[in-house]
Amino acid sequence: MMFSEEQINRYARHIILPEVGGKGQEKLLDARVLVIGAGGLGSPVSMYLAAAGIGKIGIVDFDVVDYSNLQRQIIHGTDDVDRPKVQSGKETLNSINPEVEVIIHETMLTSDNALEIIKPYDIVVDGTDNFPTRYLTNDACVLLKKPNVYGSIFRFEGQASVFAPELGGPCYRCLYPEPPPPGMVPSCAEGGVLGVLPGIIGCIQATEIIKLALGKGEPLINRLMLYDALDMKFRELKLRRDPKCPICGENPTITELVDYQEFCGIGIEPEEPGAHPDEVSVRDLKVAMDDVGKDTAFLDVREYDEVEIARIHGVPVIDLGE
Ligand code: ZN
Repeated sequence: MMFSEEQINRYARHIILPEVGGKGQEKLLDARVLVIGAGGLGSPVSMYLAAAGIGKIGIVDFDVVDYSNLQRQIIHGTDDVDRPKVQSGKETLNSINPEVEVIIHETMLTSDNALEIIKPYDIVVDGTDNFPTRYLTNDACVLLKKPNVYGSIFRFEGQASVFAPELGGPCYRCLYPEPPPPGMVPSCAEGGVLGVLPGIIGCIQATEIIKLALGKGEPLINRLMLYDALDMKFRELKLRRDPKCPICGENPTITELVDYQEFCGIGIEPEEPGAHPDEVSVRDLKVAMDDVGKDTAFLDVREYDEVEIARIHGVPVIDLGE
């Protein structure tokens, strides 16, 4: 392949690296990477991949940009609020590098479409924020033998790894065979996340993708990288493939994609009244609060920053932590 003058200029700092060179840059231009989620992790991953000249970048997301995304999802700008994330993402990537082919998949990844969407790509990036999509991504990658470059973030901590049983490493299920019970792990929306954290974890993911595409260096296979922003510490755990893993083990019990909502226990909780005797609906609470004759005391146990967002008039606050 012959580079154009613009390409030689654009990729000059790659081409002079002996580990990359013209041959390596060609590999990057030939690489096809699918980014699942155009959010906190997907932003830095896809932006650096576009800048690096990864030839084809797919983005899967069904959501629209919200003001609360802008603190960390740097692929989107203020003017993009209420626009589909895939649209905004494609425009940003093409303004960084117009020669990158950006394929948008404006849909939720499901058991019905995952194999078809993932198949044309070489490497998959897990930038999801929920367990059903995380297990779905893992299983689809194992079945299709595609490396799954994993990252996750919460509050001040993040982790990253490369799951690739086809390259001798474990998969996500080798680590976490079962998802936590629903409601046990708060999401970033509930628990908060430091805005720069996905930048750090996403850059680790982007580095691993570029190394895989080049076939250079020691990939983050068989290793889980843990990062703590408050202590500014990186740690590394050795991982091993689980021979009893239900999908990549010696006798797999999962041979096709399953119902991941059900697997993660989402949507099967009984909704009938009385199922949670300790809970009261907002409407019933309001009725009780308005009934001044009634002998009822109210205490708000939300965290103080949640109370900042919306205070319940006349109700004392002692947060749950206290
Ligand atoms: Zn496994």
